[in-house]
Amino acid sequence: MISIQQEICNFSKKLIDQGLNHAATGNISVREENFFYITPSGIPGDLLTSKDIVKCKIGINEKEISEMSLKPSSEWQFHQDIYFKRDDVQAIIHTHSCYASAVSALRDSIPSFNYMVALFGGKTINCSDYELFGTKQLSNKILKALGSQKGCLIANHGSVVVSEDLENAFYLSQELEHLAKQYLELKKIGEFTLLTDLQMDDVLSKFSNYGPKKF
Ligand SMILES: [Zn+2]
Repeated sequence: MISIQQEICNFSKKLIDQGLNHAATGNISVREENFFYITPSGIPGDLLTSKDIVKCKIGINEKEISEMSLKPSSEWQFHQDIYFKRDDVQAIIHTHSCYASAVSALRDSIPSFNYMVALFGGKTINCSDYELFGTKQLSNKILKALGSQKGCLIANHGSVVVSEDLENAFYLSQELEHLAKQYLELKKIGEFTLLTDLQMDDVLSKFSNYGPKKF
């Protein structure tokens, strides 16, 4: 059976191959009981090996991180805080993908222009307020924007998705990037029709009843 560390390496490479991350941007983590495994700081995703993946206990602090020889991603704080707050989350993918990052600079939620927005658990995909990367303040803003949903934009930065496993998180990252690309195209045109609250209720209901991972 493949190790969690190897699975993280494989998906880090897939993110690069799909153009969702580049060089050492973005990060991935997976929960295992009271710990989470996370990509390290500063190593490009396509060059990672299992031994580079960092294991942190949930509740680790900055002092403990500073004493580690191999440092976790600079964004370890929000990974930890999401695992602490959301029992349903087993895997997290953070990207600096082109279109989601571009839309994040609008500082606006992605509205219900397409029914697939509901795949993320709500009628919009929210955007956080801006804070400096790698800070507790940013983590707080991300948690607020994410709420109980499966993804959000991070203002002037990128996106984060959460799920029950890495495979589905990867799928959600792809879907979020696709929606962001469509949304930017629509913004150029300037006029489009949103689905109504009731129509989105129907989609949310169908997604929750239908229950597939992928559509
Ligand atoms: Zn980032």
